[in-house]
Amino acid sequence: MADIKISEYSGFCFGVKRAVDMINESLESSHRRIYCLGELIHNRIFNETLRKRGVVFMDNSQLGDIPKDAILFLRAHGTTKQTFDFLNENGIEYIDATCPYVSKIHKIVDSEPKETKVILIGDPNHPEVEGIMSWAKGEGVVFSDESHINATIPKDFRSEEDCILAVQTTFSGAEWIKCRDRIREIYPNVRVYETICSVTENRQRAIKTLAENSDLTVVVGGRNSSNTAKLFSIAGKACVNSIMIESAEELLAHAELIRGAHKIAIAAGASTPSGIIQEVYNKMSNIANEELSFAELLEQSFKTLNTGERVVGIVSAVNPTEVKVDLGTKHTGILPYDEITAESGVNLNELFKVGDEVEVICGKFSDADGTVQLSKKKIDQHKYWEMIKAAKESGEMLTGKVKEIIKNEKGYAGVIALYGPNKVFIPASQTGIPKGEELESLKGQEVSFKIIDINEQRKRAVASIKEPSKISRKEAAETFYNSVNVGDKFEGTVRAIMSYGVFVNLGPVDGMLHISEISWGRPKKPSEVFAEGDKVNVFIKELDKENKRISLGYKTEESDPWYIFQNTYKVGDVVDATVVSIMPFGAFAEIMPDLDGLIHISQISDKPVANPASVLKVGDKVTVKITAADVERRRLSLSIRALLENTDEVVEEAPAEAAEATDAE
Ligand code: SF4
Repeated sequence: MADIKISEYSGFCFGVKRAVDMINESLESSHRRIYCLGELIHNRIFNETLRKRGVVFMDNSQLGDIPKDAILFLRAHGTTKQTFDFLNENGIEYIDATCPYVSKIHKIVDSEPKETKVILIGDPNHPEVEGIMSWAKGEGVVFSDESHINATIPKDFRSEEDCILAVQTTFSGAEWIKCRDRIREIYPNVRVYETICSVTENRQRAIKTLAENSDLTVVVGGRNSSNTAKLFSIAGKACVNSIMIESAEELLAHAELIRGAHKIAIAAGASTPSGIIQEVYNKMSNIANEELSFAELLEQSFKTLNTGERVVGIVSAVNPTEVKVDLGTKHTGILPYDEITAESGVNLNELFKVGDEVEVICGKFSDADGTVQLSKKKIDQHKYWEMIKAAKESGEMLTGKVKEIIKNEKGYAGVIALYGPNKVFIPASQTGIPKGEELESLKGQEVSFKIIDINEQRKRAVASIKEPSKISRKEAAETFYNSVNVGDKFEGTVRAIMSYGVFVNLGPVDGMLHISEISWGRPKKPSEVFAEGDKVNVFIKELDKENKRISLGYKTEESDPWYIFQNTYKVGDVVDATVVSIMPFGAFAEIMPDLDGLIHISQISDKPVANPASVLKVGDKVTVKITAADVERRRLSLSIRALLENTDEVVEEAPAEAAEATDAE
């Protein structure tokens, strides 16, 4: 006795069933003539039935011939924007049976500005692909497979341009992954939309598995249906005895094969009506002398779910705003961003990968869209609430991110931290921030808190970060002191500016950057150099682990102006300088930041100068000649007079007391 099985997901997919239902309803409720743009589905027998019921099939070139009182039917593949425009401009009434999955791709493409390049993977001649690409405002390109991409785009070509990538709904899943990964290499900024219809993938996967375990596989569908042809090709690779038929009558030609088989698989393409599958099953049973309940088998090929039911599904696509989940049902599971996380800016691609298992709760089912809304948040909320309750009992510390600052008319009320998807309220008095001070600094921060109260009925939790933060800060500081050494470098943040230096935050502890460490030249006020919040590269100069003190260094050999001077200038060079101070014995002029030299009174002019202030003032720009440089003692002599007389002979040694004052440090 042969075991005959109908492959899961056989027959009309959601989109085709919807289009068939719509045309049936129109035929039953309207007396107007119905025209259909292209064949409604790729099934000769079914289309013949429609023809007999008065439906006229036509193509784009005949659009202008549609009588005014007729209705045009647009099939599940969808059509081009130009066709829609033509119909609207000419007042032709139409019923749009475009599958919502296809319409969604139209909307994605249509929402992009003309600067965005649209890349689509699919058959360039397929009406669905032509329809999708017609919505692109700017450049659009279609690749049929990975080899097409490689033949078109040079191997090392990379582009930063803004582009989106989508795929024909019925495209092969394995080939799509290859194409997607290759496009990501070429266009690293590409935004990927996983638009393969899970119905197609599921059907193909199911027939492969069933055919592998069968002696005979029968694929039922229109010979002009690409969907059926793909199924037949998959079946043929998995089962050596595979046949394709359009109707039950064709089985007679294979009676011998059927009688010799113990396990028989029946699969049907998306355009095959259930009536035809039933006929095939019945005929097959008769031939194999076997009568089983067809209705039962067809029903069993889909499992059913209800609202509120918890179920584990498989991630079939990840888009920026939602995740598609295969639940093994007729309905595609849609898990929207808001039902995954309460945090903003989360990249769903980092949370989910195609093939991941995910536990969800079923929400609203939509037969119109063929979808069921899912929620992961509800499951997580329950899970995290249990952990909150346990933490309240045990006193265990939890960690979460501060999402919101709560204010009322009296000032700051507290903050809301997220523990998983659950909100935990931390009163202002429990934040560890002194009374009256702003709480904004906590926003976005990861904090450890202790649950101090819960309301089981309202699922509310109150926590404190005061104690934990004190403890954890102390522990973190201890760890820091034990792990660092003199010479270690850090990028710190200026936390406070004092007259004698600045405190630089290094994470768990602060270090002191003394004023003498801030600049190489004459000491500058710390506030002239830094502002609070500035990032600063420092190193540990002195470390007192016992007393928990750190002195920081800022100046390095490379930033030493004398180091730079030696690599830039030499004695005899003529340079521009700025007068920075006037002394009775001459003027100091800066030739580069933090390095100034003395223009001795005798070198200010080619005429005698009694008082330098009578010739120069602070801020004057002067051109000077470098007449001497004592790197060891950090002294630099400059002369204006040497340039006026154009001779080195006029250069005289600066008096000792003046030279002492030329220390550039
Ligand atoms: S997108 Fe999927 S559901 Fe819609 S018509 Fe195509 S195969 Fe059917």
